[in-house]
Amino acid sequence: MSEQFLPFSKPCIDQATIDEVVECLRSGWLATGPRVKRFESDLAKYFKKEVSNTLVLTSATAGLQLALQSLNFQPGDEVITTSITFAASANTIVQAGAKPVFVDVELETRNIDIRKVEKAITAKTKAILPVHFAGVPVDLDAVYALAKKYNLRVIEDAAHAVGSFYKDKIIGSFGDTQVFSFHPNKVMTSGEGGAVTTSDANMAKFISVMRFHGIDREAWNRNAKEGSQHYDVIAAGYKYNMMDIQAALGIHQLAHLEEFIAKRTKLALRYNELFAGWEELMLPQNPDYSSRNSWYIYAPLINIEKAKITRDEFMQKMKEQNIGTGLHYEAVHLYSFYQKTYGYKRGDFSNAEIISDRIVSLPLFPDMTFADQDRVVTAMRKIFKG
Ligand SMILES: *Cc1c(COP(=O)(O)O)cnc(C)c1O
Repeated sequence: MSEQFLPFSKPCIDQATIDEVVECLRSGWLATGPRVKRFESDLAKYFKKEVSNTLVLTSATAGLQLALQSLNFQPGDEVITTSITFAASANTIVQAGAKPVFVDVELETRNIDIRKVEKAITAKTKAILPVHFAGVPVDLDAVYALAKKYNLRVIEDAAHAVGSFYKDKIIGSFGDTQVFSFHPNKVMTSGEGGAVTTSDANMAKFISVMRFHGIDREAWNRNAKEGSQHYDVIAAGYKYNMMDIQAALGIHQLAHLEEFIAKRTKLALRYNELFAGWEELMLPQNPDYSSRNSWYIYAPLINIEKAKITRDEFMQKMKEQNIGTGLHYEAVHLYSFYQKTYGYKRGDFSNAEIISDRIVSLPLFPDMTFADQDRVVTAMRKIFKG
């Protein structure tokens, strides 16, 4: 096996980005400072959002947690979400004091099935947390119509959807609240990091205070005679502030985002062409409304009946050919915490479980070449066709 290992994901970092990080290190200002401010203002411009309503943090998980916590749940309150997501979507609902209520997904888009959401709404439901899975936007008109009808908040888990469009609007530019991830295997990265965009000024204020120890300099300055080194602590806050070193990365990644998405799209559509007619695979489908997919992952289902091989065996056989694959995701309702705490069990959500048992993420990243991609397809042909 002479060929190099091909990972399923790899960040694309150019020299200008490296130079900016080095400059940041030389500047002596490493923690939250001017580069974070610049990153927030660049993001606000990209998302067509007010800067005060665009907040960066240490991760999307921190953003989800604070956005949910700002809703001030009471015991017994419920938040509707999907089981086909990263555990953080549900974990943060629990951390904020609410019960995660899972709803099944559509087999084609893997997104939450809106028709089933309405049936799950109870007097205790306070919010919906849809996930734009793989970068495919959820049907937001339908989500917001339900939210309006039942007076619910909407926190969109947009960890995969940096640069995705719903109809002709970029995710983050409209609606209630969106949370983005800049983890290294996401569409763009700041090392670790995340951002929240919200139309709720109170939520933005809550997050800006809680992400840094509950410190409110503005409140203090308003009351103080002169600006000073003093500050007030108005809540027991967290340490979720982004560093300038991270923002240095993020600023340059954002500048390349359109190019990253164009490259991902080209590769994803080429996978679709190369796999056309393969009965061992069920390819990801577009929704029936217009959209732009960020193509965070290219994740077909292994048709295990036709392929006569399990998904886990498939991943192992790819590894033996020096090719990495990813698993996004096993259904969250099947994890032991969710089974034990809320009584979820196998059999609850049939589409989620079909996906959970069959989905696999194939290599896809901006610097991947067509030759890399051909290697993946050749390896798969060997596995399926002997
Ligand atoms: C990656 C991810 C998160 C968490 O993002 P971090 O920045 O790693 O905290 C949340 N939700 C989904 C759907 C994700 O894929």
